[in-house]
Amino acid sequence: MAACTVVAAVASGITVSATAGAPAVSAPARVGSATSLGERSRGSPRLLGRSAAGRPIRVIESGKAGGARTVLVFGCIHGSECAGMAVARRLAATRPPAGARLVTVPNLNPDGYAAGTRQNGRGVDLNRNFPRGWRALGAPGALHYSGPRPLSEPESQLARRLIIRLRPRVTIWFHQALALVDRSGGDVAIERRYARLTGLPLRRLPPYPGTATRWQNHAFAGTTSFVVELPAGPLSANATRRHAAAIIRLAAATR
Ligand SMILES: [Zn+2]
Repeated sequence: MAACTVVAAVASGITVSATAGAPAVSAPARVGSATSLGERSRGSPRLLGRSAAGRPIRVIESGKAGGARTVLVFGCIHGSECAGMAVARRLAATRPPAGARLVTVPNLNPDGYAAGTRQNGRGVDLNRNFPRGWRALGAPGALHYSGPRPLSEPESQLARRLIIRLRPRVTIWFHQALALVDRSGGDVAIERRYARLTGLPLRRLPPYPGTATRWQNHAFAGTTSFVVELPAGPLSANATRRHAAAIIRLAAATR
């Protein structure tokens, strides 16, 4: 995250292009228009809130603030499926297309990540803890324990508040390790485009109870939230670039 720290010092000014080490005039016009006065360019991490065990959960917002077309990316929700964090980090250091806002939460589940578990620090599967179709599943620590009630966990509450505030047109949730793009219930054209851009197949997983995508696609008509299942293991540099580029393309095309 070192790059973000450097950007933080200048992100609020109008000389953001200086972070690229080149004068603004050398930037492509499409990018340059996103750096005008009153708009933000690359963002700096700020605290979204804390996990059940008190670990910080950070969010990085970049691009045009307020009323912009927003694309939201969660790099990790299941603590043992966090290869998407690399994509989120790369995006956080990328200037979004003009008129778009790019928001990334690299890791929504730092407790699970630290422990190497799918669930959060209280043994809850966060992607069974959202309100739409929620059902009591399992017991604490069980692989798909849904928590005592919908939104019982600080992590899912933080995600919900962020989504309500941002109203993202497109939300991407990274998981592993099925290597597919899930037809999650939003605009299938967007899901198909992402699949084509990244070379992953488009498939439909079962509509599990209490998932974040189910809740979003139901609660926010006209928006699209979908799951990207990356392959097992860490993401290669090439794949990281490919996924980040695909998200930028979606952000540019989002209306
Ligand atoms: Zn998962």
